[in-house]
Amino acid sequence: MSLGDTIFAPATAAGRAGIAVIRISGPDGGSALAALLGENCVPEPRRAILAAFRDPLTGEELDRGLVLWFPAPHSFTGEDVAELHCHGGAAVMAALLRALGRMAGCRLAEAGEFTRRAFQNGKMDLTQAEALADLIAAETEAQRRQAQRQMAGALGQLYEGWRADLIGALAHLEADIDFPDEDLPDGMTARQRPVLRRLGEHISAHLDDGHRGERLRDGCHMVILGAPNVGKSSLLNALARRDAAIVSAQAGTTRDVVEVHLNLGGYPVVLADTAGLRESGDAVEAEGVRRARARGDQADLKIVLYDCAATPEPDETVLAMRGDGLLVANKVDLVSSPPRHGLGVSTLTGQGMDELLRRLTDEAARCMAHDGPPGLTRMRHRRGLEDCRDALLRALEQQDGELMAEDVRLAARHLGRITGRVDVEDILDVVFGDFCIGK
Ligand code: GDP
Repeated sequence: MSLGDTIFAPATAAGRAGIAVIRISGPDGGSALAALLGENCVPEPRRAILAAFRDPLTGEELDRGLVLWFPAPHSFTGEDVAELHCHGGAAVMAALLRALGRMAGCRLAEAGEFTRRAFQNGKMDLTQAEALADLIAAETEAQRRQAQRQMAGALGQLYEGWRADLIGALAHLEADIDFPDEDLPDGMTARQRPVLRRLGEHISAHLDDGHRGERLRDGCHMVILGAPNVGKSSLLNALARRDAAIVSAQAGTTRDVVEVHLNLGGYPVVLADTAGLRESGDAVEAEGVRRARARGDQADLKIVLYDCAATPEPDETVLAMRGDGLLVANKVDLVSSPPRHGLGVSTLTGQGMDELLRRLTDEAARCMAHDGPPGLTRMRHRRGLEDCRDALLRALEQQDGELMAEDVRLAARHLGRITGRVDVEDILDVVFGDFCIGK
């Protein structure tokens, strides 16, 4: 099925590179290819050939490279698709894109448009399209694995399975409305209640997953708390300097919180350093402390730091915030005996830092890893599932069969919107806005 125009765009990121790929998709893909290569040079389907790309107007050779031809429907988008593997320089790219732009029916693709067409032609559901965006954005092994699992359809199948159960229940409810069963006082409606209740429980359990899938996308949040001068920023820097750990040095810096993004054993971690925790009359400092506390409350793990050379015990303000956080005694290089409380480290000499990294990696794994069914990865999924569960709970409270059926229909629709099976027009722009390759 074709959706109007033929679109083209770089499939590789902009910049200097040995090779870049331009993709073309749509009904005029074949004629665009013939115009660039010459009528007799279009390759057999799915066979790479080396060809000259010529300007159709002047005949000038713009570049030479490999060409692939995927006729509909056996292509990524389900339409006729061509791939040009050209040299990855700005001028080569510009010349080829200009030549394509002059061809009748061809235009530059918008962000996410290839994947949007793949979705609209039934090549993937919405959760798979989202997973593709996640895979392209994945920076760590665990993120890659999650995205691949979702791309293989695990999440979509789970939701579609639930939706099929709801539609099955709905058929029984509707049959009961149309042909009331005189043998059973409450008819088939009564028999659907346990089915709906069980489904509601499955959805609740899925929602109650500790946000693992979402955390794996966004990173597990850890925050360093402690009194001034205990070595909080030294610790952040020491962890960030370890080559194995660092992803990007200074992802976000606000006035009182510095963040680094780390890759701990394949798990993405956002580590933040906060203002020193100290009771203070100074308004600005008090505000910093308030923000540090708030940050600590939101974090998945608090790393509570104290200076074991200055005090044998952590500061009380800090200890009060520890909760189930990790207590770390810094500056062990200055003391002769091991600290009485917490894990001893020295950010200066590196003592104890390997053990600390191991503990942090375990924490990251605990906060994200899980077996069993795939986890939901986005707020959009969470909202849809919550709406579905709410509709199911309402259905279970209804005494009237028709009202119950209406709520079950609504619950099924919420699930269908997650996978993209029903009324999705208003969410497509949100989903496909995530794609930005080659732009
Ligand atoms: P923050 O205020 O908690 O962020 O503390 P800083 O990281 O700025 O460190 C305060 C002071 O302690 C600095 O002079 C650091 O050089 C020093 N310091 C940090 N860690 C260690 C350590 O492990 N051993 C020693 N001897 N000094 C340290």
